[in-house]
Amino acid sequence: SGKPAAAADAGLEYTNIDDIPQIVSDLRAAFLTGKTRSIEYRKNQLKQLAYMLKDHKDDFVESLKKDLGRSRFESIFAELMGTTNEIVEAVAKLDKWAKPTKPWAGVAWAAHGAKIRSEPKGTVLVLGAWNYPITVQIGPVVGAIAAGNTVILKPSEVAGHTAKLIAKLWNKYLDPECYRIVNGGIPETTAVLDQRFEHIFYTGNGTVGRIIAEKAAKWLCPVTLELGGKSPVYVDKSADLSIAAHRILWGKSFNCGQTCIAPDYVLIAPELQDKFIAELRKAYERFFPKGKGGVEESASYARIINPGHWKRLDAMLGGTKGKIVLGGEGDENSKFLPPTVVANVKPNDPLMTGEIFGPILPIMSVRNVKEAVDFINSRDQPLSLYLFAGDSKVKDFFFDNTRSGACVQGDTLLHFAVDALPFGGTGPSGYGNYHGKASFDQFSHQRASLDAPSTGLLGKIIELVMSSRYPPYTEANLKK
Ligand code: NAD
Repeated sequence: SGKPAAAADAGLEYTNIDDIPQIVSDLRAAFLTGKTRSIEYRKNQLKQLAYMLKDHKDDFVESLKKDLGRSRFESIFAELMGTTNEIVEAVAKLDKWAKPTKPWAGVAWAAHGAKIRSEPKGTVLVLGAWNYPITVQIGPVVGAIAAGNTVILKPSEVAGHTAKLIAKLWNKYLDPECYRIVNGGIPETTAVLDQRFEHIFYTGNGTVGRIIAEKAAKWLCPVTLELGGKSPVYVDKSADLSIAAHRILWGKSFNCGQTCIAPDYVLIAPELQDKFIAELRKAYERFFPKGKGGVEESASYARIINPGHWKRLDAMLGGTKGKIVLGGEGDENSKFLPPTVVANVKPNDPLMTGEIFGPILPIMSVRNVKEAVDFINSRDQPLSLYLFAGDSKVKDFFFDNTRSGACVQGDTLLHFAVDALPFGGTGPSGYGNYHGKASFDQFSHQRASLDAPSTGLLGKIIELVMSSRYPPYTEANLKK
């Protein structure tokens, strides 16, 4: 059928391409009715979205297990909890976010009622990736609804079971006049992208990101691109190696390494490498005890999404000139790949070219923080940049001299959960950001507004004060 295994296996029904223009024009018409301008309506729809996740928590855990072999804990912790929290916050703060703000415009404009109105853009499109099908698909929709737009969500067909479940539940919970799902692969997505939108929010890889941006350019449609890349970690000699090893291995094993902000590779001084690997071994044994069957038997450990990605990762491991010091042996049939640490990796290694997006952790030598910074700066700006250091001079130097979507000392992944922080990339890791208020802003237009005094006594006074702008122009009037 041309569908990826998971989509075919799940029996995911694709949207009829011929229906797509009508779906979009219905949403455009619904927007113009003004229905989504009501804050109460938006809050109700957001609550419905939360009920959808709550009522069907077990169904989502199940579909995510089918798609990613993922544990209940990871699905609840990284998807259902996070997205529900986003919704709860949006409902609680929507009045405040949507309220026009009055900037101080200066004495000259004190009577002109300058205001900034956060207004919906119109009809928007959200396209998501397969690795966290709730967080990166329904997550952005929270901002789109909160801001008052009508929305199409196009879930990733690669996580077919979850895409099917979302499609099944969507219209039971949300108003189909304003919020629709389109399912499909490249032909369906291309047909959607041929339509006019007022914003497109895309999460996925940079190659498709470029396709999206080009398509959007035809309509001068603004785009948010949440992309990936290699997120480095530098472990300094002032770090606590045991804590660093635990937190790095956790970030690399979570969802089997298929996380856009997973620590991609480690930079560390050569004299620390062995000690750091010993700490990684300890963490590994603690997370996946041999006595309980090790990582392959562990109910806590996910699988690679599909055979294609498994083979890609296996080929990377096959091609490395580094030394596999932990893990390594996977199983193609069950798409199992253990957390795998590769030491003595050189910059031109296959593990150091593209984003790994799997549980493989290469370790490369740098002599000090200066060399780490130079190496990072010689490459694309990453989505996240991680540091483990106790020395505040090292912290300052590292963050003051690098660029990235986010920078985190002392942990991995956790900044994603802090809704008060905008989440997004820079350079090849994407542009625009979201989470919390940033999501609302991303899907809003900051509309400038004035209410100039133009009637009554005040109108007459202002007319007098400002009449020097009218022709015939004179030099004297410029001085007024
Ligand atoms: P994917 O293959 O699921 O693709 C994402 C979306 O793009 C899907 O809806 C898919 O249908 C659509 N698509 C695919 N090919 C297309 C084409 N030729 N034309 C139009 N649409 C097309 O996901 P992926 O890209 O494999 O996701 C993995 C990448 O996403 C990694 O690089 C990861 O780092 C990144 N990612 C980033 C974030 C973030 O928040 N920055 C989050 C998750 C994943």
